[in-house]
Amino acid sequence: MLRTIYGKLSAIMLGLFYAVGFLFIMGTLFSNRLYFQEASQRLSRNVAKQLVSKQDLMVDGRVDTVAMDLVSRDLMAINRTADIYLLDLHGRILYSSVPGDELKADHVSMKPISSFSSGETRFPILGDNPRDPSVKRIFSVCPIPVSGEVQGHLYITLGEGELETITGMLKGSYIVNISIIAAVASLLLVSAVGLLLFNQLTKRLRGLSREVEKFKEDGFSAPVLKSAGGKDGNGDEIDRLEKVFREMAAVISAQVRELKESDSLRRELVTNVSHDLRTPLTSMQGYLETLAVKTDLSEKEKRGYLDRAIRQSNRLRRLIADLFELAKLDAHEVKDHPEPFSLGELALDVLQKFNLMASERGVNLVSDLDPRLPFVMADIGLIERALENLLKNAVTYTPGGGTVTLSVLPGPDQVTVTVADTGKGIREADLPHIFDRYYRIDTADDDTAEGTGLGLAITKRIVELHGSTIEVQSEPDRGSVFAFELPLAPSSLVKNL
Ligand code: ADP
Repeated sequence: MLRTIYGKLSAIMLGLFYAVGFLFIMGTLFSNRLYFQEASQRLSRNVAKQLVSKQDLMVDGRVDTVAMDLVSRDLMAINRTADIYLLDLHGRILYSSVPGDELKADHVSMKPISSFSSGETRFPILGDNPRDPSVKRIFSVCPIPVSGEVQGHLYITLGEGELETITGMLKGSYIVNISIIAAVASLLLVSAVGLLLFNQLTKRLRGLSREVEKFKEDGFSAPVLKSAGGKDGNGDEIDRLEKVFREMAAVISAQVRELKESDSLRRELVTNVSHDLRTPLTSMQGYLETLAVKTDLSEKEKRGYLDRAIRQSNRLRRLIADLFELAKLDAHEVKDHPEPFSLGELALDVLQKFNLMASERGVNLVSDLDPRLPFVMADIGLIERALENLLKNAVTYTPGGGTVTLSVLPGPDQVTVTVADTGKGIREADLPHIFDRYYRIDTADDDTAEGTGLGLAITKRIVELHGSTIEVQSEPDRGSVFAFELPLAPSSLVKNL
Protein backbone atom coordinates (compact mmCIF):
# COMPACT_ATOMS: atom_id res chain seq x y z
CA MET A 1 0.00 0.00 0.00
CA LEU A 2 2.79 2.44 0.96
CA ARG A 3 4.51 1.70 -2.36
CA THR A 4 1.86 3.62 -4.25
CA ILE A 5 1.59 7.40 -4.47
CA TYR A 6 -2.00 7.09 -3.25
CA GLY A 7 -0.83 5.09 -0.21
CA LYS A 8 1.92 7.56 0.62
CA LEU A 9 -0.28 10.63 0.20
CA SER A 10 -3.03 9.02 2.28
CA ALA A 11 -0.61 8.02 5.04
CA ILE A 12 0.87 11.53 5.18
CA MET A 13 -2.58 13.13 5.18
CA LEU A 14 -3.97 10.82 7.89
CA GLY A 15 -0.79 11.27 9.98
CA LEU A 16 -1.09 15.06 9.79
CA PHE A 17 -4.84 15.03 10.45
CA TYR A 18 -4.53 12.81 13.49
CA ALA A 19 -1.58 14.78 14.89
CA VAL A 20 -3.60 17.98 14.52
CA GLY A 21 -6.64 16.21 15.97
CA PHE A 22 -4.65 15.00 18.97
CA LEU A 23 -3.24 18.49 19.61
CA PHE A 24 -6.71 19.98 19.24
CA ILE A 25 -8.22 17.54 21.75
CA MET A 26 -5.39 18.08 24.23
CA GLY A 27 -5.80 21.85 23.80
CA THR A 28 -9.55 21.53 24.33
CA LEU A 29 -9.06 19.53 27.52
CA PHE A 30 -6.45 21.96 28.83
CA SER A 31 -8.45 25.09 28.06
CA ASN A 32 -11.62 23.56 29.46
CA ARG A 33 -9.84 22.69 32.66
CA LEU A 34 -8.53 26.25 32.92
CA TYR A 35 -12.02 27.53 32.24
CA PHE A 36 -13.51 25.37 35.03
CA GLN A 37 -10.77 26.43 37.42
CA GLU A 38 -11.29 30.09 36.58
CA ALA A 39 -15.06 29.83 36.95
CA SER A 40 -14.81 27.91 40.25
CA GLN A 41 -12.24 30.32 41.71
CA ARG A 42 -14.32 33.34 40.70
CA LEU A 43 -17.41 31.86 42.31
CA SER A 44 -15.58 30.91 45.49
CA ARG A 45 -13.23 33.88 45.77
CA ASN A 46 -15.08 35.33 48.79
CA VAL A 47 -15.68 32.08 50.70
CA ALA A 48 -12.64 32.62 52.99
CA LYS A 49 -13.54 36.27 53.54
CA GLN A 50 -17.09 35.38 54.59
CA LEU A 51 -15.87 32.74 57.03
CA VAL A 52 -13.29 35.09 58.58
CA SER A 53 -15.87 37.84 58.97
CA LYS A 54 -18.29 35.49 60.82
CA GLN A 55 -16.12 34.75 63.86
CA ASP A 56 -12.69 35.17 65.42
CA LEU A 57 -10.46 32.29 64.38
CA MET A 58 -7.40 33.41 66.32
CA VAL A 59 -7.24 34.51 69.89
CA ASP A 60 -4.07 36.17 71.25
CA GLY A 61 -2.06 35.03 68.24
CA ARG A 62 -3.14 31.41 68.65
CA VAL A 63 -5.58 29.32 66.68
CA ASP A 64 -9.05 28.93 68.05
CA THR A 65 -9.38 25.28 67.14
CA VAL A 66 -12.98 25.04 68.29
CA ALA A 67 -13.93 27.91 66.01
CA MET A 68 -11.89 26.38 63.20
CA ASP A 69 -13.58 22.97 63.59
CA LEU A 70 -16.93 24.69 63.34
CA VAL A 71 -15.91 26.64 60.27
CA SER A 72 -14.51 23.59 58.58
CA ARG A 73 -17.65 21.58 59.28
CA ASP A 74 -19.78 24.32 57.78
CA LEU A 75 -17.57 24.43 54.71
CA MET A 76 -17.54 20.68 54.25
CA ALA A 77 -21.32 20.78 54.27
CA ILE A 78 -21.22 23.07 51.22
CA ASN A 79 -18.18 21.69 49.36
CA ARG A 80 -16.85 18.23 50.19
CA THR A 81 -13.74 18.69 48.08
CA ALA A 82 -12.56 21.78 49.94
CA ASP A 83 -9.80 21.68 52.60
CA ILE A 84 -9.38 24.44 55.12
CA TYR A 85 -6.07 25.61 56.63
CA LEU A 86 -4.97 28.33 58.96
CA LEU A 87 -1.54 29.69 58.07
CA ASP A 88 0.83 31.99 59.91
CA LEU A 89 2.31 34.98 58.09
CA HIS A 90 5.04 32.79 56.48
CA GLY A 91 2.68 30.15 55.22
CA ARG A 92 3.28 27.58 57.93
CA ILE A 93 0.20 25.46 58.55
CA LEU A 94 -1.18 26.09 62.10
CA TYR A 95 -4.47 24.30 61.59
CA SER A 96 -5.72 21.88 58.95
CA SER A 97 -9.04 20.15 58.28
CA VAL A 98 -7.12 17.31 56.63
CA PRO A 99 -6.40 14.31 58.89
CA GLY A 100 -2.73 14.27 59.97
CA ASP A 101 -1.75 11.16 57.99
CA GLU A 102 -3.07 12.66 54.73
CA LEU A 103 -1.20 15.91 55.13
CA LYS A 104 1.96 15.85 53.02
CA ALA A 105 3.32 19.38 53.63
CA ASP A 106 3.64 21.65 56.63
CA HIS A 107 3.63 24.95 54.85
CA VAL A 108 2.24 26.69 51.81
CA SER A 109 3.93 29.10 49.38
CA MET A 110 2.89 32.69 50.08
CA LYS A 111 3.46 33.93 46.50
CA PRO A 112 0.07 32.88 45.05
CA ILE A 113 -1.58 34.08 48.28
CA SER A 114 -0.01 37.54 47.84
CA SER A 115 -1.21 37.63 44.19
CA PHE A 116 -4.74 36.70 45.30
CA SER A 117 -4.74 39.25 48.12
CA SER A 118 -3.36 42.04 45.91
CA GLY A 119 -6.61 41.81 43.93
CA GLU A 120 -5.21 40.14 40.82
CA THR A 121 -8.15 39.07 38.71
CA ARG A 122 -6.41 36.83 36.22
CA PHE A 123 -7.94 33.65 37.51
CA PRO A 124 -7.17 30.82 37.94
CA ILE A 125 -4.38 31.42 40.48
CA LEU A 126 -3.09 28.05 41.59
CA GLY A 127 -1.71 27.56 45.08
CA ASP A 128 0.00 24.77 46.99
CA ASN A 129 -2.06 21.77 47.98
CA PRO A 130 -0.68 20.37 51.25
CA ARG A 131 -2.71 17.19 50.74
CA ASP A 132 -0.79 16.48 47.47
CA PRO A 133 2.13 18.91 46.79
CA SER A 134 2.46 17.58 43.20
CA VAL A 135 -0.96 18.96 42.17
CA LYS A 136 -1.65 22.70 42.56
CA ARG A 137 -5.18 23.80 43.34
CA ILE A 138 -7.35 26.84 43.08
CA PHE A 139 -8.00 28.44 46.43
CA SER A 140 -9.71 31.19 48.35
CA VAL A 141 -7.74 33.08 51.03
CA CYS A 142 -8.38 35.85 53.51
CA PRO A 143 -6.07 37.56 56.06
CA ILE A 144 -7.12 37.17 59.72
CA PRO A 145 -6.86 40.46 61.58
CA VAL A 146 -6.45 40.42 65.36
CA SER A 147 -6.86 43.84 66.92
CA GLY A 148 -6.42 45.45 63.53
CA GLU A 149 -3.23 43.56 62.77
CA VAL A 150 -2.94 40.62 60.35
CA GLN A 151 -1.77 37.54 62.24
CA GLY A 152 -2.47 34.77 59.79
CA HIS A 153 -4.50 33.61 56.78
CA LEU A 154 -7.52 31.41 56.32
CA TYR A 155 -6.53 29.30 53.23
CA ILE A 156 -9.13 27.13 51.53
CA THR A 157 -8.14 24.81 48.67
CA LEU A 158 -10.96 24.06 46.31
CA GLY A 159 -11.05 20.66 44.66
CA GLU A 160 -12.45 20.32 41.18
CA GLY A 161 -13.94 16.92 41.88
CA GLU A 162 -13.92 14.53 38.93
CA LEU A 163 -12.83 17.31 36.53
CA GLU A 164 -9.26 17.05 37.85
CA THR A 165 -8.41 14.10 35.57
CA ILE A 166 -8.79 13.68 31.78
CA THR A 167 -11.08 10.68 32.11
CA GLY A 168 -13.01 12.58 34.75
CA MET A 169 -13.37 15.51 32.40
CA LEU A 170 -14.49 13.24 29.57
CA LYS A 171 -17.05 11.62 31.80
CA GLY A 172 -18.14 14.68 33.70
CA SER A 173 -18.11 17.56 31.25
CA TYR A 174 -20.82 17.87 28.66
CA ILE A 175 -18.86 20.64 26.87
CA VAL A 176 -15.70 18.53 26.73
CA ASN A 177 -17.70 15.59 25.46
CA ILE A 178 -19.36 17.63 22.72
CA SER A 179 -16.04 19.22 21.67
CA ILE A 180 -14.29 15.86 21.47
CA ILE A 181 -17.12 14.16 19.60
CA ALA A 182 -17.20 17.10 17.15
CA ALA A 183 -13.40 16.93 16.72
CA VAL A 184 -13.39 13.16 16.12
CA ALA A 185 -16.38 13.36 13.75
CA SER A 186 -14.80 16.17 11.70
CA LEU A 187 -11.51 14.24 11.61
CA LEU A 188 -13.25 11.14 10.27
CA LEU A 189 -15.23 13.16 7.74
CA VAL A 190 -12.20 15.13 6.51
CA SER A 191 -10.15 11.90 6.31
CA ALA A 192 -12.84 10.17 4.23
CA VAL A 193 -13.18 13.16 1.88
CA GLY A 194 -9.37 13.45 1.66
CA LEU A 195 -8.99 9.75 0.81
CA LEU A 196 -11.68 10.04 -1.87
CA LEU A 197 -10.05 13.13 -3.40
CA PHE A 198 -6.59 11.56 -3.41
CA ASN A 199 -8.06 8.45 -4.98
CA GLN A 200 -9.59 10.57 -7.75
CA LEU A 201 -6.37 12.53 -8.23
CA THR A 202 -4.13 9.48 -8.43
CA LYS A 203 -6.56 7.45 -10.56
CA ARG A 204 -5.22 8.84 -13.85
CA LEU A 205 -1.65 8.30 -12.63
CA ARG A 206 -2.47 4.66 -11.88
CA GLY A 207 -4.09 4.30 -15.31
CA LEU A 208 -1.03 5.81 -16.97
CA SER A 209 1.35 3.55 -15.07
CA ARG A 210 -0.75 0.50 -16.09
CA GLU A 211 -0.50 1.65 -19.72
CA VAL A 212 3.29 2.05 -19.44
CA GLU A 213 3.56 -1.46 -17.99
CA LYS A 214 1.33 -2.91 -20.69
CA PHE A 215 3.41 -1.13 -23.34
CA LYS A 216 6.49 -2.81 -21.88
CA GLU A 217 4.79 -6.22 -21.68
CA ASP A 218 3.76 -5.91 -25.34
CA GLY A 219 7.41 -5.56 -26.29
CA PHE A 220 7.27 -1.78 -26.90
CA SER A 221 5.63 -2.36 -30.24
CA ALA A 222 1.85 -2.27 -29.66
CA PRO A 223 0.39 1.12 -30.53
CA VAL A 224 -0.78 3.16 -27.51
CA LEU A 225 -4.26 4.50 -28.11
CA LYS A 226 -5.14 8.12 -27.53
CA SER A 227 -6.73 8.56 -24.11
CA ALA A 228 -10.46 9.15 -24.07
CA GLY A 229 -10.63 11.69 -21.25
CA GLY A 230 -7.21 13.38 -21.48
CA LYS A 231 -6.95 17.09 -22.13
CA ASP A 232 -4.27 16.50 -24.73
CA GLY A 233 -1.46 18.14 -22.79
CA ASN A 234 -3.36 21.32 -21.95
CA GLY A 235 -4.39 20.14 -18.48
CA ASP A 236 -2.28 19.45 -15.42
CA GLU A 237 1.10 17.71 -15.08
CA ILE A 238 -0.50 14.26 -15.44
CA ASP A 239 -2.16 15.28 -18.73
CA ARG A 240 1.16 16.60 -20.02
CA LEU A 241 2.95 13.43 -18.85
CA GLU A 242 0.34 11.33 -20.61
CA LYS A 243 0.70 13.30 -23.84
CA VAL A 244 4.50 13.01 -23.80
CA PHE A 245 4.24 9.28 -23.03
CA ARG A 246 1.89 8.72 -25.97
CA GLU A 247 4.19 10.63 -28.32
CA MET A 248 7.19 8.72 -27.01
CA ALA A 249 5.39 5.37 -27.27
CA ALA A 250 4.38 6.15 -30.86
CA VAL A 251 8.00 6.89 -31.81
CA ILE A 252 9.36 3.87 -29.92
CA SER A 253 6.79 1.42 -31.33
CA ALA A 254 7.35 2.73 -34.87
CA GLN A 255 11.10 2.29 -34.46
CA VAL A 256 10.74 -1.17 -32.93
CA ARG A 257 8.41 -2.22 -35.77
CA GLU A 258 10.83 -0.81 -38.33
CA LEU A 259 13.73 -2.65 -36.68
CA LYS A 260 11.83 -5.93 -36.60
CA GLU A 261 10.71 -5.49 -40.20
CA SER A 262 14.15 -4.67 -41.51
CA ASP A 263 15.61 -7.51 -39.46
CA SER A 264 13.21 -10.05 -40.96
CA LEU A 265 13.80 -8.57 -44.43
CA ARG A 266 17.52 -9.01 -44.00
CA ARG A 267 17.07 -12.62 -42.91
CA GLU A 268 14.79 -13.23 -45.89
CA LEU A 269 17.33 -11.63 -48.20
CA VAL A 270 20.18 -13.82 -46.97
CA THR A 271 18.03 -16.94 -47.38
CA ASN A 272 16.83 -15.93 -50.84
CA VAL A 273 20.19 -14.81 -52.13
CA SER A 274 21.89 -18.04 -51.15
CA HIS A 275 19.06 -20.11 -52.60
CA ASP A 276 18.70 -18.15 -55.86
CA LEU A 277 22.35 -17.90 -56.65
CA ARG A 278 22.90 -21.59 -56.11
CA THR A 279 20.92 -22.70 -59.19
CA PRO A 280 22.86 -20.83 -61.92
CA LEU A 281 26.11 -21.34 -60.02
CA THR A 282 25.59 -25.10 -59.87
CA SER A 283 24.75 -25.36 -63.54
CA MET A 284 27.74 -23.14 -64.50
CA GLN A 285 29.97 -25.34 -62.34
CA GLY A 286 28.49 -28.42 -64.07
CA TYR A 287 29.39 -27.15 -67.55
CA LEU A 288 32.89 -26.16 -66.46
CA GLU A 289 33.53 -29.52 -64.74
CA THR A 290 32.31 -31.37 -67.84
CA LEU A 291 34.80 -29.35 -69.86
CA ALA A 292 37.56 -30.18 -67.42
CA VAL A 293 36.80 -33.90 -67.06
CA LYS A 294 35.79 -34.93 -70.58
CA THR A 295 38.88 -34.98 -72.73
CA ASP A 296 37.26 -36.49 -75.81
CA LEU A 297 34.94 -33.52 -76.58
CA SER A 298 34.84 -32.05 -80.06
CA GLU A 299 35.60 -28.35 -80.55
CA LYS A 300 31.92 -27.70 -81.26
CA GLU A 301 30.84 -29.42 -78.05
CA LYS A 302 33.47 -27.56 -76.05
CA ARG A 303 32.22 -24.23 -77.53
CA GLY A 304 28.62 -25.21 -76.62
CA TYR A 305 29.50 -25.94 -72.96
CA LEU A 306 31.55 -22.77 -72.73
CA ASP A 307 28.70 -20.63 -74.17
CA ARG A 308 26.26 -22.11 -71.66
CA ALA A 309 28.66 -21.45 -68.78
CA ILE A 310 29.06 -17.84 -69.96
CA ARG A 311 25.28 -17.43 -70.21
CA GLN A 312 24.87 -18.73 -66.69
CA SER A 313 27.53 -16.36 -65.41
CA ASN A 314 25.76 -13.44 -67.16
CA ARG A 315 22.50 -14.53 -65.64
CA LEU A 316 24.20 -14.73 -62.26
CA ARG A 317 25.49 -11.18 -62.69
CA ARG A 318 22.01 -9.85 -63.61
CA LEU A 319 20.41 -11.82 -60.78
CA ILE A 320 22.85 -10.41 -58.24
CA ALA A 321 22.31 -6.83 -59.49
CA ASP A 322 18.49 -7.17 -59.48
CA LEU A 323 18.45 -8.96 -56.14
CA PHE A 324 20.44 -6.25 -54.46
CA GLU A 325 18.35 -3.53 -55.98
CA LEU A 326 15.14 -5.20 -54.80
CA ALA A 327 16.60 -5.93 -51.38
CA LYS A 328 17.60 -2.30 -50.95
CA LEU A 329 14.12 -1.16 -52.00
CA ASP A 330 12.51 -3.64 -49.62
CA ALA A 331 14.73 -2.62 -46.73
CA HIS A 332 13.85 1.02 -47.44
CA GLU A 333 17.49 1.74 -47.99
CA VAL A 334 16.70 3.38 -51.29
CA LYS A 335 15.24 6.79 -50.65
CA ASP A 336 13.65 8.65 -53.50
CA HIS A 337 15.08 12.08 -54.17
CA PRO A 338 12.23 13.82 -55.91
CA GLU A 339 13.08 16.68 -58.25
CA PRO A 340 11.17 18.40 -61.02
CA PHE A 341 12.09 17.03 -64.46
CA SER A 342 10.64 16.62 -67.92
CA LEU A 343 9.20 13.13 -68.21
CA GLY A 344 8.88 13.63 -71.99
CA GLU A 345 12.65 13.99 -72.36
CA LEU A 346 13.32 11.01 -70.11
CA ALA A 347 10.84 8.86 -72.08
CA LEU A 348 12.58 9.74 -75.35
CA ASP A 349 16.00 8.87 -73.85
CA VAL A 350 14.80 5.48 -72.63
CA LEU A 351 13.09 4.70 -75.95
CA GLN A 352 16.37 5.45 -77.69
CA LYS A 353 18.10 2.73 -75.66
CA PHE A 354 15.61 0.12 -76.86
CA ASN A 355 15.61 1.09 -80.55
CA LEU A 356 18.30 -1.44 -81.46
CA MET A 357 16.77 -4.31 -79.45
CA ALA A 358 13.33 -3.59 -80.93
CA SER A 359 14.56 -3.43 -84.52
CA GLU A 360 16.55 -6.67 -84.04
CA ARG A 361 13.34 -8.39 -82.96
CA GLY A 362 11.23 -6.67 -85.63
CA VAL A 363 9.13 -4.82 -83.05
CA ASN A 364 7.84 -1.30 -83.73
CA LEU A 365 8.71 1.07 -80.93
CA VAL A 366 6.48 4.15 -80.91
CA SER A 367 5.93 7.05 -78.52
CA ASP A 368 2.82 9.05 -77.75
CA LEU A 369 4.06 12.12 -75.94
CA ASP A 370 2.12 15.36 -75.49
CA PRO A 371 4.47 18.17 -76.66
CA ARG A 372 3.31 20.41 -73.77
CA LEU A 373 4.03 17.86 -71.06
CA PRO A 374 4.35 19.48 -67.60
CA PHE A 375 7.28 18.64 -65.31
CA VAL A 376 6.79 15.81 -62.82
CA MET A 377 8.09 15.55 -59.27
CA ALA A 378 9.93 12.24 -58.95
CA ASP A 379 13.29 10.55 -58.62
CA ILE A 380 14.64 10.64 -62.16
CA GLY A 381 17.05 7.68 -61.72
CA LEU A 382 14.39 5.36 -60.26
CA ILE A 383 11.75 6.31 -62.86
CA GLU A 384 14.28 5.65 -65.64
CA ARG A 385 14.82 2.16 -64.17
CA ALA A 386 11.05 1.50 -64.01
CA LEU A 387 10.56 2.59 -67.64
CA GLU A 388 13.48 0.40 -68.74
CA ASN A 389 11.99 -2.65 -67.01
CA LEU A 390 8.55 -2.15 -68.57
CA LEU A 391 9.93 -1.45 -72.06
CA LYS A 392 12.33 -4.40 -71.86
CA ASN A 393 9.45 -6.74 -70.96
CA ALA A 394 7.19 -5.27 -73.65
CA VAL A 395 9.84 -5.70 -76.38
CA THR A 396 10.84 -9.14 -75.04
CA TYR A 397 7.33 -10.56 -74.88
CA THR A 398 6.13 -9.08 -78.20
CA PRO A 399 6.79 -11.17 -81.32
CA GLY A 400 8.17 -9.59 -84.52
CA GLY A 401 5.71 -7.33 -86.32
CA GLY A 402 4.11 -6.24 -83.04
CA THR A 403 4.10 -2.74 -81.61
CA VAL A 404 5.24 -1.31 -78.28
CA THR A 405 3.89 2.14 -77.40
CA LEU A 406 5.20 4.39 -74.62
CA SER A 407 2.76 7.21 -73.90
CA VAL A 408 2.76 9.98 -71.30
CA LEU A 409 -0.57 11.78 -70.89
CA PRO A 410 -0.96 14.86 -68.66
CA GLY A 411 -3.87 15.13 -66.22
CA PRO A 412 -4.94 17.92 -63.84
CA ASP A 413 -2.63 16.88 -60.94
CA GLN A 414 -0.59 14.08 -62.43
CA VAL A 415 0.71 12.50 -65.61
CA THR A 416 -0.13 8.93 -66.63
CA VAL A 417 2.68 6.79 -68.01
CA THR A 418 1.57 3.81 -70.13
CA VAL A 419 3.62 1.04 -71.75
CA ALA A 420 1.39 -0.94 -74.12
CA ASP A 421 2.30 -3.82 -76.37
CA THR A 422 0.57 -6.11 -78.85
CA GLY A 423 2.51 -9.11 -77.56
CA LYS A 424 1.62 -12.50 -76.18
CA GLY A 425 -0.25 -11.09 -73.17
CA ILE A 426 -0.66 -12.62 -69.74
CA ARG A 427 -3.30 -15.11 -68.63
CA GLU A 428 -5.80 -13.92 -66.06
CA ALA A 429 -4.58 -16.52 -63.58
CA ASP A 430 -1.02 -15.17 -63.79
CA LEU A 431 -1.94 -11.49 -63.56
CA PRO A 432 -2.12 -11.24 -59.74
CA HIS A 433 1.36 -12.79 -59.40
CA ILE A 434 3.48 -11.08 -62.01
CA PHE A 435 4.66 -8.43 -59.49
CA ASP A 436 5.82 -11.12 -57.05
CA ARG A 437 9.53 -11.67 -56.89
CA TYR A 438 10.80 -14.57 -59.05
CA TYR A 439 7.41 -15.03 -60.69
CA ARG A 440 8.04 -15.97 -64.30
CA ILE A 441 5.39 -17.35 -66.58
CA ASP A 442 7.57 -19.29 -68.99
CA THR A 443 10.21 -21.14 -67.08
CA ALA A 444 10.53 -24.01 -69.54
CA ASP A 445 13.33 -22.32 -71.45
CA ASP A 446 14.94 -21.08 -68.26
CA ASP A 447 18.31 -22.04 -69.56
CA THR A 448 18.21 -19.49 -72.26
CA ALA A 449 15.78 -16.89 -70.95
CA GLU A 450 17.15 -13.48 -70.10
CA GLY A 451 14.74 -12.62 -67.32
CA THR A 452 15.29 -12.96 -63.60
CA GLY A 453 11.65 -12.65 -62.50
CA LEU A 454 12.58 -9.58 -60.47
CA GLY A 455 12.01 -6.73 -62.96
CA LEU A 456 8.30 -6.14 -62.22
CA ALA A 457 8.82 -6.54 -58.46
CA ILE A 458 11.46 -3.77 -58.63
CA THR A 459 9.21 -1.59 -60.81
CA LYS A 460 6.30 -1.98 -58.40
CA ARG A 461 8.47 -0.95 -55.39
CA ILE A 462 9.77 2.11 -57.30
CA VAL A 463 6.25 3.26 -58.22
CA GLU A 464 5.07 2.71 -54.64
CA LEU A 465 8.01 4.70 -53.34
CA HIS A 466 6.50 7.64 -55.28
CA GLY A 467 3.17 7.15 -53.53
CA SER A 468 1.55 5.68 -56.62
CA THR A 469 0.41 2.24 -57.82
CA ILE A 470 1.05 0.29 -60.99
CA GLU A 471 -1.90 -1.19 -62.88
CA VAL A 472 -1.88 -3.90 -65.55
CA GLN A 473 -4.42 -5.01 -68.12
CA SER A 474 -3.68 -7.90 -70.39
CA GLU A 475 -5.26 -10.40 -72.70
CA PRO A 476 -3.46 -13.49 -74.01
CA ASP A 477 -2.29 -13.06 -77.62
CA ARG A 478 -3.60 -9.49 -77.77
CA GLY A 479 -1.13 -7.64 -75.60
CA SER A 480 -0.61 -5.95 -72.25
CA VAL A 481 -0.87 -2.42 -70.87
CA PHE A 482 1.10 -1.32 -67.80
CA ALA A 483 0.27 2.12 -66.37
CA PHE A 484 1.17 4.30 -63.40
CA GLU A 485 0.82 7.94 -62.41
CA LEU A 486 3.33 10.52 -61.22
CA PRO A 487 2.59 13.80 -59.45
CA LEU A 488 3.15 17.14 -61.21
CA ALA A 489 5.98 19.31 -59.93
CA PRO A 490 4.79 22.38 -57.96
CA SER A 491 4.84 25.42 -60.27
CA SER A 492 6.98 27.36 -57.75
CA LEU A 493 9.79 24.83 -58.22
CA VAL A 494 9.45 24.66 -62.01
CA LYS A 495 9.70 28.47 -62.40
CA ASN A 496 13.18 28.48 -60.90
CA LEU A 497 14.48 26.00 -63.47
P1 ADP B 1 11.35 -11.21 -66.11
O1 ADP B 1 12.74 -10.91 -65.77
O2 ADP B 1 11.07 -12.66 -66.26
O3 ADP B 1 10.83 -10.40 -67.26
P2 ADP B 1 9.50 -9.67 -64.64
O4 ADP B 1 9.27 -9.55 -63.19
O5 ADP B 1 9.87 -8.44 -65.38
O6 ADP B 1 10.55 -10.81 -64.84
O7 ADP B 1 8.18 -10.26 -65.28
C1 ADP B 1 7.54 -11.36 -64.64
C2 ADP B 1 6.79 -12.17 -65.65
O8 ADP B 1 5.68 -11.43 -66.13
C3 ADP B 1 7.62 -12.47 -66.88
O9 ADP B 1 8.31 -13.68 -66.72
C4 ADP B 1 6.59 -12.58 -67.99
O10 ADP B 1 6.11 -13.89 -68.10
C5 ADP B 1 5.44 -11.70 -67.52
N1 ADP B 1 5.46 -10.42 -68.25
C6 ADP B 1 5.99 -9.25 -67.85
N2 ADP B 1 5.76 -8.27 -68.75
C7 ADP B 1 5.07 -8.83 -69.77
C8 ADP B 1 4.53 -8.35 -71.00
N3 ADP B 1 4.66 -7.09 -71.37
N4 ADP B 1 3.87 -9.25 -71.81
C9 ADP B 1 3.71 -10.51 -71.40
N5 ADP B 1 4.18 -11.04 -70.27
C10 ADP B 1 4.85 -10.22 -69.46
